[in-house]
Amino acid sequence: MYDVAVIGAGLGGLECAYLLAKKGMKVIVLEQNPVIGGCLQTFKRSGVTFDTGFHYIGGLDEGQPLNRIFKVFNLMTLPWQKLDTEGFDEVFYGGKSYLFKNGYGNFLAQMTEYFPNDRACLEKYVGLMKDVGENIFDAFSRKQEDMLADDSLFSTGALDYLTQNVKNEVLKNVLSGTSPKLPLTEKLPLYHFAQINSSFIQSAYRIKGGGMQIADSLAAQIKQFGGEILTKAKVVASEEKDGALTALILSNGEKIETKNVISNVHPLELMKIVDKVSFIRAAQKRRYSSLENSFGMLTVNIALKKNALKYLNRNVYIHEGEVWQEGFQKAEDFPKCALISYAVPQSGEYAENIDLLTPMLWQDVERFDNGSKPGHRGTEYEEFKQKKAAQLIDLADKYVPGIKNAVDKFYVSTPLTYRDYTSTAEGSAYGVLKKMPFQKLASNVYWTGQNIGLHGILGVSMTALLTQRLLTGDVPEL
Ligand SMILES: Cc1cc2nc3c(=O)[nH]c(=O)nc-3n(C[C@H](O)[C@H](O)[C@H](O)COP(=O)(O)OP(=O)(O)OC[C@H]3O[C@@H](n4cnc5c(N)ncnc54)[C@H](O)[C@@H]3O)c2cc1C
Repeated sequence: MYDVAVIGAGLGGLECAYLLAKKGMKVIVLEQNPVIGGCLQTFKRSGVTFDTGFHYIGGLDEGQPLNRIFKVFNLMTLPWQKLDTEGFDEVFYGGKSYLFKNGYGNFLAQMTEYFPNDRACLEKYVGLMKDVGENIFDAFSRKQEDMLADDSLFSTGALDYLTQNVKNEVLKNVLSGTSPKLPLTEKLPLYHFAQINSSFIQSAYRIKGGGMQIADSLAAQIKQFGGEILTKAKVVASEEKDGALTALILSNGEKIETKNVISNVHPLELMKIVDKVSFIRAAQKRRYSSLENSFGMLTVNIALKKNALKYLNRNVYIHEGEVWQEGFQKAEDFPKCALISYAVPQSGEYAENIDLLTPMLWQDVERFDNGSKPGHRGTEYEEFKQKKAAQLIDLADKYVPGIKNAVDKFYVSTPLTYRDYTSTAEGSAYGVLKKMPFQKLASNVYWTGQNIGLHGILGVSMTALLTQRLLTGDVPEL
């Protein structure tokens, strides 16, 4: 009998397992795939390592929030590479380039130079970023179970805030221009927008060698604490007694008996697992099964020719549309935006691989969801992917000339790929839209991970700490 069984070995599940195993609890993590990591997974082709989800993080300088959290998880020893402080992100909007600088003061000064007539609103905006960024751990001092519930930044929409406070449309687009790392829709709470943007203004980092190192490091430590990780272990059902879950059932029929369950999976996936459970009401199951999801991503992982494209120590965001509409770009307008992310090269000044990302809706790929396994979906899907990739490469080449000529090989994934590898409904990149009430699903069933409120590496790490607090009543010293 385990103290805790965690469903899913994404970042959230692994961090929860780490925290609880370290406290001496008997923990097991159940992962459906042969490989752990979820959105942290990397894959290798022709000797090049590609990231599938995670690309960069913010707030990793000494004393900043993610640095303090990563110290708890012993992740600061990984090969982090700081991005250019004078321009960690470059946003192209309306054909013009805007650099995002690190440091609240530098960021404000740079933006005020671009938009001298908007100083007052920029001061207010940067004040909000600073306030959220510097008080992120206040969530742990709140007493109620739903620690973030009383925060007005959750009930205010980010778009509403920007519409009311930033009258200059160009500035509004530029400040929002580091999409697509955020699910920019009118439902996005201001807290999510501020937390993520603020952490990057603090500092921005990539990891040399791929995000999988985060998952591998956590897994090794979980095992050192006596925890177990089972791969190829898809949870498909559960058993109950006296209003609590008592066991999880794997697809091979194996039964895992446990006192507590933590779900690191999409709510729709959890509802399948608890489908037969009587103490979760039908209305509750229906509600969690029909939550609206954020958009997915088309990703083109590109292996570059040798010495063909200089490494850029920043990200490039391209926008040819209105930023808040681009998550819903129509097939005929595709592509309106792109993120160009450079992987840190093993050595030298030339990039070895880059990734291009752009939002893609489930509706665009749903017709190819014919029950076939990834890699066997037929020529029409392959042609669709090749066409979209070529269009995205053309867009990137317009802003960073030379990219197209530097392409050696490329690999394409769509929301369908994400759905298959992570069981996230509709292949959504960021899970459920809007905040879910942060609470237990039932007496001994807890949520964690990007679907319960905060996404991204910082957000998910916060959810893991909050889940531990619900379970044990404390959080590690940060
Ligand atoms: C394209 C893309 C780019 C991104 N870029 C960034 C970025 O640059 N910076 C950043 O901070 N964040 C980024 N993110 C977001 C970040 O990667 C995620 O928010 C975070 O990794 C999600 O972690 P998670 O643990 O909540 O979920 P997941 O990573 O989705 O993990 C869920 C796990 O559960 C497993 N699972 C599902 N169902 C079952 C089942 N029935 N039984 C057993 N196991 C199951 C899945 O296989 C998976 O391993 C990006 C995401 C995407 C998709």
